[in-house]
Amino acid sequence: MIPRIPRHNWDRRLLRALLESESIFAACQPRTFFSSLSATGARRSAQTRIKSLPSGTRCSGGSHRHLSTYAPSAQQPPQQSRKRTHMCGHVDVSHVGQRVVLCGWALSARKAGKDLVFVPLRDATGISQLVYEDPHSSSSHSAEARESIRDALLSITPESVVRVSGIVRKRPTEAVKKDQCGGEVEIVLEGFEVLNAADPLPFSTAARAKLPSEEVRLKYRYVDLRRSQLQDNLRKRALAAHTARNYLQVQRFVEVETPLLFKSTPEGAREFLVPTRHPGQFYALPQSPQQYKQVLMSAGLDRYYQIAKCFRDESLGADRQPEFTQIDVELSFAEMEDVMEVMEGLVKQIFNAVIGWKTDGPFPRITYEQAMRSYGSDKPDVRYGMKICNVSEAVGHVSDDGTVVEAFCVKGGANKISNKAFEKIKEVILTEAFPLLGGKVDPKDLYPIRVSGEAGWTGKLGFGLEVSPAGKQQIEAEMGRVEEGDLVVVNRRLNGYLGPHTIAGRMRLHIIKHLLSTGALSPDNEYNFLWVHSFPLFTPTTHPARIPAGTEATYEATHHPFTAPLLPSPPSTTSPSPTTQHDSLFTSPGDALGQHYDLVVNGQEIGGGSVRVHDPHLQRRIFSEILHMTPERVAADFNHLLDALRFGCPPHAGMAIGFDRMVAILCGASSIRDVIAFPKLSGGDLFVGSPAGVSGQALKEYHLKVVE
Ligand code: ASP
Repeated sequence: MIPRIPRHNWDRRLLRALLESESIFAACQPRTFFSSLSATGARRSAQTRIKSLPSGTRCSGGSHRHLSTYAPSAQQPPQQSRKRTHMCGHVDVSHVGQRVVLCGWALSARKAGKDLVFVPLRDATGISQLVYEDPHSSSSHSAEARESIRDALLSITPESVVRVSGIVRKRPTEAVKKDQCGGEVEIVLEGFEVLNAADPLPFSTAARAKLPSEEVRLKYRYVDLRRSQLQDNLRKRALAAHTARNYLQVQRFVEVETPLLFKSTPEGAREFLVPTRHPGQFYALPQSPQQYKQVLMSAGLDRYYQIAKCFRDESLGADRQPEFTQIDVELSFAEMEDVMEVMEGLVKQIFNAVIGWKTDGPFPRITYEQAMRSYGSDKPDVRYGMKICNVSEAVGHVSDDGTVVEAFCVKGGANKISNKAFEKIKEVILTEAFPLLGGKVDPKDLYPIRVSGEAGWTGKLGFGLEVSPAGKQQIEAEMGRVEEGDLVVVNRRLNGYLGPHTIAGRMRLHIIKHLLSTGALSPDNEYNFLWVHSFPLFTPTTHPARIPAGTEATYEATHHPFTAPLLPSPPSTTSPSPTTQHDSLFTSPGDALGQHYDLVVNGQEIGGGSVRVHDPHLQRRIFSEILHMTPERVAADFNHLLDALRFGCPPHAGMAIGFDRMVAILCGASSIRDVIAFPKLSGGDLFVGSPAGVSGQALKEYHLKVVE
């Protein structure tokens, strides 16, 4: 007879061994993995085992990882009977009366009565409610034995991995959880086995638990990923990828993997370099597979795709990671129209498969100029109206200083946006960068008009301008009626468009955000997709108006240097050679538009692409004459591409979708970190602790020296 151990003194090893024993509960049937020993017998058996553990087996000192390495006892039932029969989320009323074996993570046990314990059990599919009711109250089991069984169950640490056996039964009506799959049933426990006893977790995974900082969550990412929300995100991501593959396969695309050890070439962002053991020789991780996919068109693949990893050494943000994923495609003999058709189909299929969203008809299209004019953004959020209008003429603005006056109307805004709120928003705007202005906004150029009284907003404006009744009519023809109680935001700014937004555009977005946060505007949760196309091919590095006389403007490619210019008319056999056709491109590159298109949804760009330059002479001239690359640099960085273009390369076009961003939208996640299994923070990967130093020996092998 084993002396009774007071509960609070139970040796952890004994308790664990007890829990691990196959026989804590009497089994109702032979061939379950719980033998039919009595509870007291189980304790004895457990102790015997501990004693007989081979030396070196670790089950003491708080390490529970080897509990499952016990030598199987002679009575161990056949392996098959221990096998999981169902997933938690799949057990429902159709299984009532059946015996099931479930495996998963035991959540906090709850004692609901003297001999009544509930333990939620979670696996990848959902949660099952396990119920322990003393089955032996009228049997020969002693009260002591029953108590130890119950206590053993109660002492399972939350998030321990267990295997359980039990009978499915309907929950009492008042306990039914209609919104939960399997919420109509519970499992009456017959036995359980602890496969891995968890140490106390760094934080709780419960749905309503307060989460620790993101740093802690990322350090223990495997715990964080147990939360149903993140699990759900990763499953949606997998479904989106699967749907993309299926769709593109049907559309005759070939999935091709391109190298991750690439070459340093300037494509816009800073790269990650990879040292080699050859002195001074580096690989670079690709910013995108852009050049490889173009070359695959020269290789005759016709249609390429890849769910590609890309790397850019940029500052991190809610939608920026140094490594991220794109659905990358390229098509031969294709124009903008063809790419838009294929990609629209892809996006619609993914949105439908993952969240059941459907829409009829093609996505609307607007040019960059229209987007900037009406919404002050190259990725306009077209929900909530408030279109921006150029009111220069209507207010009698004479643009002798190269400025224009823009305005937009916030319906009912006079009472919804206080002066204080407006000033606060304005302060934010003053900190934002506007390339057109060289980064500065003059506070005097931005102000609100609260429309009141008969005259509405006629009369004097700031900067000495006046809205006449005729001007008012002219403005309202474009902006819609401006009524008492409205707020009109007016901005005077340098004419032209440069970069991603205007001052009025940013103001409009901040005001929308403010109205949504105060409840003055109801959120519009529809997905408003649209294409923005015909961007300027090159972006001046300084605004032309600011370039000192006699100095030549310098440009960078707006998308990337492989984007084809928009031709005034389609080429024909009688037209001059493509190179001469593009002469104006070289005389005034700042005026050229590119065959570049972006896919935008609710103010977020989720993808972009272009028709490519497939004429090697034109591509070479762009590199040297517009982007001012030296012949040596062109040769070193791009000869491989220029060669591929000159040995029979078809016209081609392509696009890439930011996969992480798209999945974040599908999941309603505010950061792409919530849809990436192991994302990075500015400190790097907090789970593995990278980046990290390397040994002096490794540095030597790579011919590197760390300079403090
Ligand atoms: N490679 C481009 C990017 O990463 C997409 C494309 O032009 O296809 O933005």
